[in-house]
Amino acid sequence: MIRFENVTKRYRGTSKPALSGVDFEVQRGEFVFLVGASGSGKSSCLRLILREDVPSSGRVAVLGRDLRALANRKVPYFRRHIGSVFQDFRLLPSKTVYQNVAFTLQVTGSSRGFIQQAVPEALALVGLDGKQKRMPHELSGGEQQRVAIARALVNRPQILLADEPTGNLDPATSVGIMQLLARINAGGTTVLMATHEAAFVDQMQRRVIELKDGVMVRDETHGGYGDTSNIPRLAPEEVRGAAAAAALTAVQEVQRQTADLSVVRAALVDAQRRAAASGPSGDVPPSSAASSETARTAPSTSARPSAAAQSSVTTPNPDDESVDAPTAPGTRPIVLPAVDVAELGVADRLGLSDADDEEVGPTS
Ligand code: ADP
Ligand code: MG
Repeated sequence: MIRFENVTKRYRGTSKPALSGVDFEVQRGEFVFLVGASGSGKSSCLRLILREDVPSSGRVAVLGRDLRALANRKVPYFRRHIGSVFQDFRLLPSKTVYQNVAFTLQVTGSSRGFIQQAVPEALALVGLDGKQKRMPHELSGGEQQRVAIARALVNRPQILLADEPTGNLDPATSVGIMQLLARINAGGTTVLMATHEAAFVDQMQRRVIELKDGVMVRDETHGGYGDTSNIPRLAPEEVRGAAAAAALTAVQEVQRQTADLSVVRAALVDAQRRAAASGPSGDVPPSSAASSETARTAPSTSARPSAAAQSSVTTPNPDDESVDAPTAPGTRPIVLPAVDVAELGVADRLGLSDADDEEVGPTS
């Protein structure tokens, strides 16, 4: 889904490269922490993924596209697949919460009907329903970041990039944001988060990629932060401890829900398969549940059934329509609030089902 191949980035006028020979691959559905001291190259990595910048050497591929080969005119379209949030929220100060979230959709030509449905749903997802008419300055920092997350998600991107999203927030508020990111990931969105919040990284036990002076020094599947001795401790110890404990509880709850949903989902797929085999359309191969589209865009998911099941539960993948046609009434296992992308016609609206999508090859 995201691949760095021997990526080096040198900024003009600097002697030392910001990134040197960075190599990693992120699969669909992963939650990855990008950690390292200030200046270690985290934001540079994220900018390369967004194609805000290009490597000096090496290759960056995202969603099957070699970004070096991506024509400039296609960059805005490409970025619609990627949501991003930043430490400083970057809201439009003179627009309401609703307008902030709606803005990108308006600029990219979404229909009014879609916007009127998608914006409240995105705000509900981040826990901000009822605050649509507020101005950013009337919100707390945590609420402002939630608006930014709603804005990043309203297009149902496949990837969410978060650059120090809790950097301006107090520990308790940060926990809520982490909990939200974990839920978003549990819904199938690939999340890459740059941070130096050691407590979260330790507690969440997700994959950690660590940079040091632009060099990747660690890639650990279930990592902690590593050596935290150089990290300034801004909050009192007990607050950090409480925040970390709360974060862990929240994440465990999300993991439990996800596991439950995976079981239901597996049963559902099985039932569909049997129905397809015995029904009048039994000549349809049961594996079409995953759809040839999915197979084409993400062959790796077949080897990772739990990730595929996760991503199906809340329908983040506009290509996967199978989930939205449960055969048994009452078994639809939606727990997390989610926009049904297929129903809303987002795929068509964004042109995802057209020629452009053919550029999305295997995750290379
Ligand atoms: P991090 O996000 O981990 O703090 P950055 O990716 O922002 O690190 O920066 C990595 C290195 O690249 C730093 O030494 C920084 O000063 C340098 N750098 C970042 N952006 C630029 C730029 N636009 N021009 C020159 N140097 C830059
Ligand atoms: Mg940075």
